Amino acid sequence: HKFHPCDEAVIATNDDASDCKRCAVRLGYWKDDYIGYFVRNQERKAPEINRGYFARVKGVEMCVEKFLKKTSGNCQIINLGCGFDTLYFRLRDTAHQVKNFIELDFPTVTARKCYTIKRNKALLARIHDEDGEVRLSPTDLHGPSYHLMGVDLRNLDEVDNKLQQAEVDYSLPTIFLAECVLVYIEAQNCRNLLKWIAQKFQAAVFVNYEQVNMNDRFGDVMLNNLRGRGCSLAGVESCLSLETQRNRFKDSGWTGARAWDMVQVYESISAAERQRIERLEMLDEGELLLQLFQHYCLVVAWLGVAFQDIDITCV
Ligand code: SAM
Repeated sequence: HKFHPCDEAVIATNDDASDCKRCAVRLGYWKDDYIGYFVRNQERKAPEINRGYFARVKGVEMCVEKFLKKTSGNCQIINLGCGFDTLYFRLRDTAHQVKNFIELDFPTVTARKCYTIKRNKALLARIHDEDGEVRLSPTDLHGPSYHLMGVDLRNLDEVDNKLQQAEVDYSLPTIFLAECVLVYIEAQNCRNLLKWIAQKFQAAVFVNYEQVNMNDRFGDVMLNNLRGRGCSLAGVESCLSLETQRNRFKDSGWTGARAWDMVQVYESISAAERQRIERLEMLDEGELLLQLFQHYCLVVAWLGVAFQDIDITCV
C-alpha cells in the first residue's frame, strides 16, 4: 500500500489523540479501562487539553447514547477514522448492545490496533463470545459483531467492499462517527463519501466532531500547527463556520443537520459532572479553554426523519 507523505502525518494525528485521551483518563476525567492497552505514553497534557478532550468524548457519547436508546440497540455503529478509539470496548461493559460495530481507518493504523487486540486477552474476550471466533489478517479483524478494517475512506469502492465483508446491513439504523477525521479529507472526496452514505443507507445519523471558525487568528494558529506537522488540511473549507459544517451534509443528500460549538456542548453536560471534572485540575485562566471550545464543534446530521431529534440536550 503506497501512501502520500501527507497521509503519514495524518496517521500520526491518531497517536496524539490517543495520548491525550490516555492522559485525561488517568487524571480521572472519564473512565476508560481500555485506552491504556493502546497507548504507552505517560506524558501529562495541559489542563485545557484535558478538558477539551473531556467535552469531545462526552459530546459524542451523549449522541451515541440517545441513538442507542431510540433504537434499543437494533442498530449499527460505524466509526470512520477510528484510530485507537475504545468506544466499542467501553460499550461492551454497559447494558447497551448493538447489532454490529464497524471501525475503519488507514491500514497502517488498523494493523497496530489489530496487533494490540490480538495480544491482549481482555480486549479479545470482548470481541468473541463463547462459540464465536475471531478472524484476523494483519490489517483486519472480524468478530461476530465487531469489525476493524484498513481502508482509505477516499476510495468508495474499497469502503463498500469492506463494509460488505463486515456484513453491514444498509437497512438497519446506523450511526456514523467521525472524530477529527473529515478535515483531512479533500472536500470533493468528503462530499462523495457523504453522498454515498446518503444513497446507501435508509436511516442514519452522522456525528462529526472537528474544527470550526477557522477564519480568525486563533484558527490560523491551529491550522498552522497542523500544517507544520505535515498534514494536508484538504477539508478545511467546511470548517469555516457552523453553517458550512451543516451545509456540507445538506449539500450531500442528508435530510438535515445541526451544529454546536463546544462552548454549547460543554454547557449541556450535567452540572454535577462539570463540577466534578473542574475540581480535577486548576486552570490558570479560562481564556485559552474558551478559545479552544469556540474552535471545535459537534455536528449531527440525519437521513430520513426518524432520528432528527438526536442532539446534545442532557438526558
Ligand atoms: N477518531 C479517532 C479519535 O478521535 O481518537 C482518531 C482521530 S485522528 C485525529 C484522525 C484519524 O483519521 C487517523 O487515525 C487517520 O488515520 C484517520 N484518517 C484520516 N484520513 C483518512 C482516510 N482518508 N482514510 C482512512 N482514515 C483516515
